Amino acid sequence: MAERIPETLHKKLSDRLGFYEDLGIRLFYRDRGAVVAPESERRLEPPATVHFSTPELQKEGTLPKLAGKPALQKIAPLVVPVSPKISSLPVVAGPSLFESMDRIADDTLLKIREDLGECTRCKLHRARHKIVFGDGSPKAELVFVGEGPGADEDAQGLPFVGRAGKLLTQMIEAMGLQRKDVYICNVVKCRPPENRQPEEDEVSTCSPFLFRQIDAIAPKVIVCLGAVAAKTLLQTNRGISQFRGEWLEFRGRKLLATYHPAYLLRNPAAKSEVWKDLQKVMAVLGLEVKKGKSE
Ligand code: URA
Repeated sequence: MAERIPETLHKKLSDRLGFYEDLGIRLFYRDRGAVVAPESERRLEPPATVHFSTPELQKEGTLPKLAGKPALQKIAPLVVPVSPKISSLPVVAGPSLFESMDRIADDTLLKIREDLGECTRCKLHRARHKIVFGDGSPKAELVFVGEGPGADEDAQGLPFVGRAGKLLTQMIEAMGLQRKDVYICNVVKCRPPENRQPEEDEVSTCSPFLFRQIDAIAPKVIVCLGAVAAKTLLQTNRGISQFRGEWLEFRGRKLLATYHPAYLLRNPAAKSEVWKDLQKVMAVLGLEVKKGKSE
């Protein structure tokens, strides 16, 4: 007779699998080459580290590049080492690995928002008022990615509506666009207390939703506003000033990092640099680049 797993373990497993599903990971298989710990050291839950694979990472040459080198390590195919107790559960016939990946390709912002739900996956949920998912056109050719909501965004549930947001709106309009033409979102969807930078665990928990948003929108250009967005999408620790204004790649899409509007509020002299960056974006999007405008 099949061994019953304890209720607490069952709940843990089902929560964990639900989390992976939210990230678009729906198929698991046992790595037969995985090293299994001795009986006495065995955990009754999957390890925290799970390698996963997406169609983009499987295609050669689509990893983000920095200075000609891939900025991301190629990630091994989806492998979750499974403890012997878990592996004795019946195997349910499911879609093939490739079918499961196609489903990621059909993702929509609505589905991603539903998967995010009333998120409590990281500690940022404790102090937030509203989740700030993103705003704008689901078919935008241009996506702006900021760091995380501030107080105004947390109160309204919309990205970039405070002082920095007003400046971003002016920048978008100077490009000859309106906010509704583009999509605006953040690396983390909940406000970090005291507007501190999001911490590593918060970024790693929330960023898969950002990656799915970008995949679902499929923009021509991604503009990272500030270092947190750039570091998250490019998986680099290099300072933004080393690659600001350069064309880079995120999953085969053009990416350009520029200064965050909040930085520009403190350092207005840097506005001309940002305007030069945005003119590069305008050229790629076929927008009229006006000569002589420096702010
Ligand atoms: N700063 C950000 O990075 N994002 C916002 O939504 C607002 C301010």
